[in-house]
Amino acid sequence: MDIEKRKLLLKRKQTIFAEDKGETLIKNIFKHVLPEYGYSIRKNQIDLAASIYHSIKKSNIALCEAEVGTGKTFAYLLAAIIFKLIKEKKIEGIGKSKFEGVQEKLKRKPKKPIIISTSSIALQKALIEDYIPELSKLLKEWGILQAHLLAVVRKGKGHYICDQRLEDCIRSIKDKPEYKKLKKLVELSYKQIDLDDYDDFTPYVKSRINVNDKCSNKCRKYYSCRYNRFLNKAMSPTYDIQICNHNYLLADIKRRSQNKSPLIPDYFLIVIDEAHKIMDTARQMYNTPLSKTYILKILNIIGKLNFKRKKTKKSVKRYIKLLIHNTNRLYTELFNNIPRDTIFEDTEKFKTSINKKAWVSIKSIIFGIDSLIDIIENNIYIMPNKKNLLYYILRSLKDIKGRCNIYLKEDNIIYWLEIANKDKNKITLCSIPKDLQKRLFNDLWIKPVPIILTSGTLSESGSFSHLKKKTGIENVRRARLDEVTKGSPFNYQKNTLMYINDKLPFPNNKDNKYINELSIEVGRLIKAAHGHTVVLFTSYRAMGLVFKNVSDIIKEYPLIKMGKGMTNPIDTFKNSKNGVLFAAGSFWEGIDVPGDILSSLIVVKLPFAVPDPISEYEQTLYKSLDEYKDKVIVPEMIIKLKQGVGRLIRSEADTGVISILDSRMKKNGNYYNRVVKALPNCKVTNSISEVKRFINNKKEEAYFK
Ligand code: SF4
Repeated sequence: MDIEKRKLLLKRKQTIFAEDKGETLIKNIFKHVLPEYGYSIRKNQIDLAASIYHSIKKSNIALCEAEVGTGKTFAYLLAAIIFKLIKEKKIEGIGKSKFEGVQEKLKRKPKKPIIISTSSIALQKALIEDYIPELSKLLKEWGILQAHLLAVVRKGKGHYICDQRLEDCIRSIKDKPEYKKLKKLVELSYKQIDLDDYDDFTPYVKSRINVNDKCSNKCRKYYSCRYNRFLNKAMSPTYDIQICNHNYLLADIKRRSQNKSPLIPDYFLIVIDEAHKIMDTARQMYNTPLSKTYILKILNIIGKLNFKRKKTKKSVKRYIKLLIHNTNRLYTELFNNIPRDTIFEDTEKFKTSINKKAWVSIKSIIFGIDSLIDIIENNIYIMPNKKNLLYYILRSLKDIKGRCNIYLKEDNIIYWLEIANKDKNKITLCSIPKDLQKRLFNDLWIKPVPIILTSGTLSESGSFSHLKKKTGIENVRRARLDEVTKGSPFNYQKNTLMYINDKLPFPNNKDNKYINELSIEVGRLIKAAHGHTVVLFTSYRAMGLVFKNVSDIIKEYPLIKMGKGMTNPIDTFKNSKNGVLFAAGSFWEGIDVPGDILSSLIVVKLPFAVPDPISEYEQTLYKSLDEYKDKVIVPEMIIKLKQGVGRLIRSEADTGVISILDSRMKKNGNYYNRVVKALPNCKVTNSISEVKRFINNKKEEAYFK
C-alpha cells in the first residue's frame, strides 16, 4: 500500500473515532469502512442500525420491520457489536481524536454474549459462515476489533454425537457399510460434530449415535465426552455471539423461569431474527404433548426388564396391561370425540374433548404410573447393573404423569389432537396454556435485557398491533417499546407489476369448476411469463390437482412439484433455466431465488389460516367474529402473503410479476385495499396482456431462449 493510501486510510480511521458516541461510530463504519469492501451505502440500513443501537442502550424491546434489501443482518450485528465493545470498554479511545489512542486503553471484563435466535437453519449458516466472519474481518482490519469475534451455533442435544452411544453402535454393526465412517468419528473425538453436517448417515444411524434423553450425570464418560466438553465451552465466556433457533431460546427461557440450569450463558442482548415465527415456536415450546407412542414405548422398555422377584414380575405385568388398556381407551375416545364438521383438508390440529370417559382413562393412567414408580424405586438397588436404565424409566414415568395431570385441569389449557401421517397409532394429545401471552411476558419480555425482534414481515402496513397482542408484548411499558419500519430500497414501481384476477369461482378445492378454471389461469400466466414461475399453494391437495391439469396444457417448460420423492426441488428449479415450481409450505418464507429464474410469482389463494382449536379459543376473547377477523385473521393472512410475495424481488436488478388469483380480491370487497396497501407499491392490473407486455419489456433476449 503506498504512503498516500495509508494516509487516507488513517484519516478515515480518525474520522470513524471522531466522536464519543456509539451511534456516530456505527454510522461512520457504514459510510467509510463498508464501502471499502464493496458495500453500498443504504440510508435505511444506517438508520435501522442507529435505532437498534439506541434500543440496546436503553434496554428496550424493539420491533424492527426491515423489508427485503434493507440489510438488517449487518444493521443489528454492527449495532450489537459496537454496544458490546463499548460496554466491555474495549474501545475507550473512541472519545479521542487520535486513532492511535484506541488500543492503548484495552481492558477486559467478563464477557456476556449476544444471543441471536433464528427460525431457519439457512440463516444460522449464513450468520456463522458469512456475516459474522466478514464483519469480524473488516472491523479487525480497521482496528475497531482487537481480536476476531467468536461465535457458536447452539442446537438441541439430538444434533450432537454421544461418545458412549457411538461406541455401542460401532460394536453392534461391525459388518455394516457405516462401520468405517463411524470409526472415523471416533478418531475425531477431539471435536464436537454437528450431525446435520453429515448427510451420508441415514436418520436411523444418526438416531443411534446422537445424544438422547438417557444422557445423565450417571454416565461414566460424563466428565470427558465431547458433548459435555462442547457444552462446558459454550457455557464459558469464550463466545461473543451465540446463535440458536427460537426453540432453543425459548427452552432456555422456560428453564430459567422454572429455576432450572440454563442452556445458554447469561446474555446482555437477545436478537430475535425471523421474529414473525416466534409465536409458532412459543406454541410448540409451551405445548405439553402426550403421545400414545411415548407411553407405549416406556411400557415396552419396562416390560423387557427382568425383575428378580416373582411377585414383582407379576405386579409389573399387571400394571403394564392396565396401562396399555387405558392408553388405548383414552386415545380411541379422544379420536371419536373429534367433531366431523371441524375436519378440513389441511387440518393439523383436531378439535376433541376430554369427556368423562377420557378423564377416567387419564386418572387410571396416573394410578398405574404411580404404582410402577413405586416398584421401580424399590428395585434400583436390587438391580445395580440396570441403574442408568431404571433412572431413565423413572424420569420418563414422572414426566408422563406430569403431562397427564395437565389434562385433568382442562380449564387452563387449549387442547387438541395431532395425528401424524393420518395414522391413528401416531396420535398425540397437545395443549398450550390459555394465558400463553402472559407466560411469555413473565418469562421473556419483562427481562431487564434489550430484545430486538426483526423480520421482513412483522407488521400490517406499519402497524404492529397484531404482533404485540399475539405475543403479549402489548403489556410492556410504552416507554420500553420501540417500533421501527424500514421500507425496501428496491424500485417496485419500475420493476414489479401486480396482476389480480377476481373472476375465478370462490376458492374450494372440492369444486372441480374452481380447480379447472384455476389451472387454466395458471397456465396462461406461465405462458405470459415464459416459464420462470413459482405457483404458491396453501394446500398440498390443490397443488397436486392443479399440477396435474397444468401438465396437460404446458409442455414447453419443465414443471417441478414440491413433495415426496423430490430431494431438492428448489435447486432443481434454480437449475431449470425457465422452469415452473409448484410449491407450498416452506416456500412461503425464507427461500431466496434471485435473478430471472423467478420472474412470476402466482399466489393461487389468499393464505388464510385453517381454523383450529387455538383460533376458536382466541375468537372468544373478541366481542364478535368480525372484530376477530379484522384484528387477527386478516393481519395474519397479510403477513403470510407478504412473506410469499417477498420471494419475487430479491435484488435491485430483479424484475417480475406478482399474481393473486382469488375472487375475494374484488375492488369493493373486504380485503382489496388492505392487501394492496400492504404489498410492494407497484402498478396493479387485471389484464394478462399487460403481464405479457411487462415481461417482454423488462427481460433481455436470453430470457426467452
Ligand atoms: S455423558 Fe451423555 S453425551 Fe456424554 S457420553 Fe455419556 S451419555 Fe453420551
